[in-house]
Amino acid sequence: MLRLEGVHKHFGSHHVLRNVSLSVRQGDKVVLCGPSGSGKSTLIRCINRLVSHDQGRVLVEGIEVSDHARDLELIRRDVGMVFQQFNLFPHLTILENCTLAPTWARKMGKKDAEALALSLLERVHIPDQAHKYPPQLSGGQQQRAAIARALCMKPKVMLFDEPTSALDPEMVKEVLDVMTELAAEGMTMICVTHEMGFARKVADQVVFMDKGEIVEEAPPEEFFTAPRNERTRQFLCQIL
Ligand code: ATP
Ligand code: MG
Repeated sequence: MLRLEGVHKHFGSHHVLRNVSLSVRQGDKVVLCGPSGSGKSTLIRCINRLVSHDQGRVLVEGIEVSDHARDLELIRRDVGMVFQQFNLFPHLTILENCTLAPTWARKMGKKDAEALALSLLERVHIPDQAHKYPPQLSGGQQQRAAIARALCMKPKVMLFDEPTSALDPEMVKEVLDVMTELAAEGMTMICVTHEMGFARKVADQVVFMDKGEIVEEAPPEEFFTAPRNERTRQFLCQIL
């Protein structure tokens, strides 16, 4: 359902993605890891064109990611994204944050959008926070609200960019639990994370990037016990 073929990206003279190819089938859970600056965020941002790649192809459900406005609109509807810093609108309630995109982009009626949002806030275990503003919530609650907001668009794939790395340790688990539940329900997802416990438990494939390249790609049992590449071994030594 999602494919990158020979993708390159430069920022000025800096070659940030080097011939990246990746294939994700429906229902797959991919964990993307690698050192800081290796291009993980850039890679997943190319999928919904928050970053535009400069060579190669990115395809979502057979549609090529480009500047074509109608295609981009279709792709962005299907691709949910959750960031490290939540990115909720602070002046809107949690419920309003959740209903904004469905009413504008999906042209859903206000009542339907609210009902959907409330059911998703229930699903991430914060139904009682619906009428509060983001700054009134804990970090873990804000991140779960951000997940619910993304789910309100009924995405076909969810991209997570280090969703727990801005959280206090005691809140990491509640967010990972929600992501694990989402995975168990069959959501296709790509997660940039250094939570290797989560990777072991949830991932079908663990992808390791270094210096803009995909260096290793393997199921978790193989990735953690028998990494083939020296750079992967070094990385794992540092973080495990
Ligand atoms: P981290 O683990 O720190 O989040 P990352 O693997 O996500 O790192 P990226 O954010 O994809 O890495 O960045 C890859 C490289 O591209 C880095 O050297 C970064 O400085 C550079 N870079 C990223 N975004 C931009 C930008 N908008 N303009 C210029 N350079 C950028
Ligand atoms: Mg990053």
